[in-house]
Amino acid sequence: MSALLERIAAVVGPHGLITDEATLEPFLIDWRKRYIGRALAMVKPASTNEVAEVVRLCAAERTAMVPQGGNTGLAGGATPDASGTQIILSLSRMNRVRGIDPLNNTLTVEAGCTLVAVQEAARTADRLFPLSLAAEGSCEIGGNLSTNAGGTAVLRYGTARELTLGLEVVLASGEVWNGLRGLRKDNTGYDLKHLFIGAEGTLGIITAAVLKLFPLPRGWATGIVGLDSPESALALLSHARERFGERLTSVELFSDFCLDLVLRHFAESRAPLRARHPFYVLIELADSHPSEHVRQQLEDGLAAALEASLVRDAVIATSEAQTRAVWALRESISDAQAREGKNIKHDVSLPASALAEFIAVTGTALERAYPGVRVVCFGHLGDGNLHYNISSPVGVDADAFLANQETINRIVHDRVVHFHGSISAEHGVGQLRRDEILRYKPPIEMELMRKVKAALDPLGIMNPGKLIARMNQL
Ligand code: FAD
Ligand code: ZN
Repeated sequence: MSALLERIAAVVGPHGLITDEATLEPFLIDWRKRYIGRALAMVKPASTNEVAEVVRLCAAERTAMVPQGGNTGLAGGATPDASGTQIILSLSRMNRVRGIDPLNNTLTVEAGCTLVAVQEAARTADRLFPLSLAAEGSCEIGGNLSTNAGGTAVLRYGTARELTLGLEVVLASGEVWNGLRGLRKDNTGYDLKHLFIGAEGTLGIITAAVLKLFPLPRGWATGIVGLDSPESALALLSHARERFGERLTSVELFSDFCLDLVLRHFAESRAPLRARHPFYVLIELADSHPSEHVRQQLEDGLAAALEASLVRDAVIATSEAQTRAVWALRESISDAQAREGKNIKHDVSLPASALAEFIAVTGTALERAYPGVRVVCFGHLGDGNLHYNISSPVGVDADAFLANQETINRIVHDRVVHFHGSISAEHGVGQLRRDEILRYKPPIEMELMRKVKAALDPLGIMNPGKLIARMNQL
């Protein structure tokens, strides 16, 4: 064992250092299995002081660290490079709830708490922590904050960034910044926590956070509507916003082709409406009233939408099982398209006012370039966030079709930027979009990002090669 690893072992103890290749293996590859790296070791500190000590030891040796939470990220941010010289710094052992303050509506947790554990801790105090996404059983709050995760309740509660009041961060120097303040108002200068949120581990290591809590809703209502077009979906969104106000929690869009994939690949799934429609919207309300009451409100609102011809048909779930089935349709789309074969993914956001035109124009451009190409268009309509994925035409080998990735990315992303959108709405940049953002972000914005990186990580040891290209040769 190298002298550095011996020193690290002395800090983190026998449970905190993993060098055995078989144990390391799952942590060297990303969720989508696109990136495979190597590592000197995985280090699992159990406290902030241990993280700080490990960072100091690594800084002294100029050894790069790759922070890792649940390793569910979709941009390759938590995967080490191929050099075998980097250390994976796993936060998973730091999973304590440090405190809950129901009166202040705040919860202080360590970075390694899974998202589900954070939600449960909030519930024990009769509060809601609203961040919710399909990977919530495995992803960790440190990873959620570092990718500024979104999910299915952003429309009402905001992204991870908007749910955070304070942070504790181990800086690249090994110093600890304790910014664990539970304040809604604090105008004492630059809001430093926002630098670390969404930084994908490139500026420091988040070890704990103060999170915002909300009243736990008492009732829910979930429905699915069938519609003609994205234009109608946007008109429905506007109608629902006006009608339901802050009770509107989720508005998720998917095309009939998405439904088709789910029905084909999940035998237990059923089409939600009597007939098929070009697009569907899943709509959910949550309120302080019981579910029967909320369902009635949703029913009245959807009846008005039907009358105004905004929607073609609608159904409201009347039991837990039906609600789960409705959400399962939406949440199975990713898996269904994976079962259909490899595809080219995009996670884009657009101003709502441009969304329908983007879908029309981009679909036409793709069809012109690749006749028969299949667009898997779904996402968080309420946030203007589309998962706009491209599958090969029927009869064209999916693996071979991947060779067109760059051209297809260009077709999609050029149009996203034309409509003033973003090429990474909620999944981050990592390795996947690192070079592509250079094409789309203003040079001055990249320059400011490089300056921030150089100021906070002058040695270039914090997750180098992710988000922005390496600056220091390690
Ligand atoms: P990891 O994958 O371990 O790491 C992600 C990045 O954060 C890496 O760059 C890593 O270096 C860095 N990092 C991790 N922990 C720390 C830390 N403590 N300090 C500093 N840096 C750190 N995302 C959405 O936004 N919305 C969704 O709806 C959504 N759905 C998903 C569904 C599935 C099935 C899957 C697999 C993923 C989904 N994601 C979604 C992706 C999402 O980014 C991750 O699930 C989650 O936020 C990442 O958390 P993690 O703990 O797994 O982070
Ligand atoms: Zn999503």
